[in-house]
Amino acid sequence: MEKCFVCGRPAAGSLRVFTSFLCRTCEQELLLLTADDPRYLFFVEKIRQVLPVAAEPLLP
Ligand SMILES: [Zn+2]
Repeated sequence: MEKCFVCGRPAAGSLRVFTSFLCRTCEQELLLLTADDPRYLFFVEKIRQVLPVAAEPLLP
């Protein structure tokens, strides 16, 4: 069973984000967040953790 990468709950039928999953609850919360909301930074940090390694700068 896939788990939501934000809240850790089972995320059946969830939105796929790269190799991770975002549940409907967190998806809706994310859509309603604005950049000045403290929760926004929390979500951004979570999303950064699931970004593929290919997104990193290709430096030695
Ligand atoms: Zn969630």
